[in-house]
Amino acid sequence: MRKIFLEYREFKEIFCISLRQNNLEIFDEKKIETFYRFTERLMEVNAVTNLTAIRNIPDVISKHLVDSLLAAKYLPEGARVLDLGCGPGFPSIPLAISRPDLKIVALDSTAKKIAFVQECIDLLNLASLTAIAGRAEDRNLSAKLGTFDVVVSRAVAKMSILSELCLPYVRVGGFLLALKAAKAEDELTEAKKAIRILGGGKTLLHQTQLIIQDGSSESRCLIEVPKANCTPSTYPRAYAVILKKPL
Ligand code: SAH
Repeated sequence: MRKIFLEYREFKEIFCISLRQNNLEIFDEKKIETFYRFTERLMEVNAVTNLTAIRNIPDVISKHLVDSLLAAKYLPEGARVLDLGCGPGFPSIPLAISRPDLKIVALDSTAKKIAFVQECIDLLNLASLTAIAGRAEDRNLSAKLGTFDVVVSRAVAKMSILSELCLPYVRVGGFLLALKAAKAEDELTEAKKAIRILGGGKTLLHQTQLIIQDGSSESRCLIEVPKANCTPSTYPRAYAVILKKPL
């Protein structure tokens, strides 16, 4: 018989406590069920192929689901969003479940992670989410440059590199939202020049705390970089060049 990872009732209780602790809205039953099925599938697949190092269910709920949802309040209604380096779907899948108004593209260079995201799209009927396997620097994605209202990205690269990967995809008037742990200021100082060259404007820092199940908390910083000007067409450069000659 198939092992149940957690009874739905238990999942719902832990998830709702975590949402409340973090001042997030409690979802309707249908959405909570979808979060349950997503988490169940993540745990099942993670048992045979490594998608995330976080395996304890309460931690998956706070550090993956709720952490991803911290970005939701910054996303305008109906926005076209790119999740660059989505891994197994963070933040894109929690955002797609909670905000069906968003049109989200999830991009990752690892085929196995994108295969998992695609499986979740089919399993959970996430019609507003599209998964693409590829690297942000790939020229075959150039038709998408400058087309997104918001590019979100969590745990992909330090700010100077992340800016070169992400800002070219943001339309002028939109913004990059980088989901970071603490100590974002140093990274940001280092990235100032890159941001300017890439067309970024005056950056906003949204500092917050992620409350964990056991009552402890971790610092989070959401860096919002508005796209003030077009990015020169030479960016993003090949990854080896980005690393060798950082802006
Ligand atoms: N955002 C997810 C995954 C973070 S791990 C989370 O927060 O859990 C970083 C991911 O970025 C990896 O899955 C890696 O494959 C992807 N990645 C790194 N560089 C990339 C690039 N240039 N283009 C696309 N994906 C990239």
